[in-house]
Amino acid sequence: MKILVNGGLGFIGSHTVVELVNSGYDPIIVDDLSNSDIRILDQLTKIIGFKPTFHQLDLCDEQAVKNFADSQKDIVGIIHFAAFKAVGESVNLPLKYYRNNFFSLVNVLNAFEGRGMNLVFSSSCTVYGQPEQLPVTEAAPVQTAQSPYGNTKQVAEEILNDVIASGSDYKMISLRYFNPVGAHESALIGEQPIGVPQNLVPFITQTAIGKREKLMVWGGDYNTPDGSCIRDYIHVVDLGRAHVAALKLMEKEDFTGIDFFNIGTGKGSSVLEVIKAFEEATGLKLNYEIAPRRDGDVEQVWGDATKSTEKLNWKAELDLSTMMSSAWKWENYIAQNPL
Ligand code: NAD
Repeated sequence: MKILVNGGLGFIGSHTVVELVNSGYDPIIVDDLSNSDIRILDQLTKIIGFKPTFHQLDLCDEQAVKNFADSQKDIVGIIHFAAFKAVGESVNLPLKYYRNNFFSLVNVLNAFEGRGMNLVFSSSCTVYGQPEQLPVTEAAPVQTAQSPYGNTKQVAEEILNDVIASGSDYKMISLRYFNPVGAHESALIGEQPIGVPQNLVPFITQTAIGKREKLMVWGGDYNTPDGSCIRDYIHVVDLGRAHVAALKLMEKEDFTGIDFFNIGTGKGSSVLEVIKAFEEATGLKLNYEIAPRRDGDVEQVWGDATKSTEKLNWKAELDLSTMMSSAWKWENYIAQNPL
């Protein structure tokens, strides 16, 4: 079964390609390389044993997407990762984010409509903001977005809802990812942040390897057991498998319309706990300092994974220690083999 993987050379997309192949699917990768490197295709080849089909295409180009869809008659499902994702940049360049994240999605939806497609969309736990109840369930209200990036996820979910409400023949699942970290066990693929990492784990590994002098822990006086922020970290390989589970659910005849799932472990870890897990997994000592709170950070969020376990038949299996050791192995790999 051919599955179109939009943004398939990116961090989550590349790991999902591996899991698709492991489950017998035939991934067709589309990426414009705006935030990825063509050499990831060779890395994927080393992992899966053959070169996956790849098309370099900007999904914002409406005509090109139409032509591409017309030329691909056997695709049965779409996983749409393609988007810009840097929260801070989206505040300064909102139109860049609205253009890319909406145009690409709308072009794809238009070009493949009427073909009974199953579509998985990459959403985010940012739609919940700071939830009133933890762990947060899919029924929690969507809160006003804190950034244009977050807004693109909320509005994209509304677009998907509207398309389904119009009677379209799509089946859709929106996966609300918590905090994807880690790397494939081969260390051939992983996360490659451009510039200073915005996320904790790449910052930890870059500090440990000497690319950064010190890790700043933004806020030590939050209302949490150790005062640092709490997140639900999820191994990117588990996350890749969740996309396979979503496709399988939509393949069932009784699945119709659209559904939304939290993709997390169901457990929160504080920044200080993550640092400790890294130190324990690697035997290294991290240079870090507690700094004042950072604007816009949610204090604590972790997801209720009950619905994913019961309906999606998916559960996170890899623990925090594996997340840390795989991220560290990848950091060492790219230090020696820069991509
Ligand atoms: P990424 O930047 O590594 O991957 C996105 C890929 O899409 C890149 O390879 C990029 O080149 C490609 N792309 C972007 N615009 C495109 C376009 N117009 N046409 C074709 N290709 C295009 O990001 P990621 O971390 O793998 O995230 C994947 C998705 O998951 C994104 O939608 C992101 O918003 C969402 N998400 C990510 C996180 C996270 O922490 N990484 C959390 C929640 C949600």
